[in-house]
Amino acid sequence: MSAVTQARRGEFDDDEHDPEGVTLSSQWSMLAGLLETARAERRRVEAAQARLADGTFGTCATCGAPIPLAQLEARPWRERCVACAR
Ligand SMILES: [Zn+2]
Repeated sequence: MSAVTQARRGEFDDDEHDPEGVTLSSQWSMLAGLLETARAERRRVEAAQARLADGTFGTCATCGAPIPLAQLEARPWRERCVACAR
């Protein structure tokens, strides 16, 4: 269990005592959002690694055209060309 989880489950549950301050609840929500963002990025990177392994990396999954290098440089996990991603 992380220190943040312990603090969240512990004696600091009543975190509304300072109405001017940032509450533990809001910090927890922000951290949960960051964690989910990081997990989603990891899934995209792992999917890109799988496409590298099976030879489909850099090919649009929708139209089959090569994805321009500039688009891959901007987002290496890109699965579709910009036109198809719209
Ligand atoms: Zn496409």
